[in-house]
Amino acid sequence: MGEKRRGGENITNRAQEAQENGRDGFCGSAGSGFPEKMRCVAKTAVDLIYPRRCPVCDRPVRPSGSLICRECETLPVRVAGSTCRRCGKALADPTAEYCGDCLRTRHVFESGGAVFEYHSIQGAIYRFKYDGRAEYADWFGQEMAARLCTMMRQERWHADALVPVPLYEKRRRQRGYNQAALLAQQVSRRTGIPVREDILVRVRATDPMKNKSLDDRRISLQGAFFARSVEDNRKSFIIVDDIFTTGATVDACAEALYHAGAVSVHFLTLAIGGAG
Ligand SMILES: [Zn+2]
Ligand SMILES: [Zn+2]
Repeated sequence: MGEKRRGGENITNRAQEAQENGRDGFCGSAGSGFPEKMRCVAKTAVDLIYPRRCPVCDRPVRPSGSLICRECETLPVRVAGSTCRRCGKALADPTAEYCGDCLRTRHVFESGGAVFEYHSIQGAIYRFKYDGRAEYADWFGQEMAARLCTMMRQERWHADALVPVPLYEKRRRQRGYNQAALLAQQVSRRTGIPVREDILVRVRATDPMKNKSLDDRRISLQGAFFARSVEDNRKSFIIVDDIFTTGATVDACAEALYHAGAVSVHFLTLAIGGAG
């Protein structure tokens, strides 16, 4: 069964196109046809006028044409070593199975993981969300796709679709884009897993979560998301977001998806906070 929505078809087509052209997408090497070459020419012209900025140092990327400066690539700290089996945070005690947060909290999602330690990429995420640096999504998505492939292989996840955490419509209009959706689209291009933005809806705005306790976050998120029925549709989902902190947002999304008929819900984020 193909996607019914036009947007879904476009995303699926782009993912197929990306696969045909190699992992790195639009300017992939193998089998580039004429339209692909034209697109590369146009892209190069745009790069000359508006040079792509590096997600780490925010200066024009060197060498140009890359997604990130060569010397900046290793600066953000990747989550490595022993990780929590539930949320994927790095563990201080390598013999432990779960982090302190996951021992105290019963999460709704099955499991998940992130690419970077939040503190090491905080500035980049701020600019991505609040300074209009949507272009950062290309490199972020490349890193997230690689992480997702590893997790799916190691932990035998199944995924029918990527579901970005939705923004409240008014906030999305103010920002001009939903950062989670941009990330999901980039991951989709590289993995071929379709994005579904039509399933999960944010039905009301929530206050900023930053300085709230876990309990306050959960109270604030109650009823914030609604998922349309997925009974006759995709059933295993991966929630995509920029940051995982306490997991309250991912849990609220997972709860709505399970309520609508999902059989499994995992998550993938760009960054994750330290183990509590
Ligand atoms: Zn740089
Ligand atoms: Zn954990």
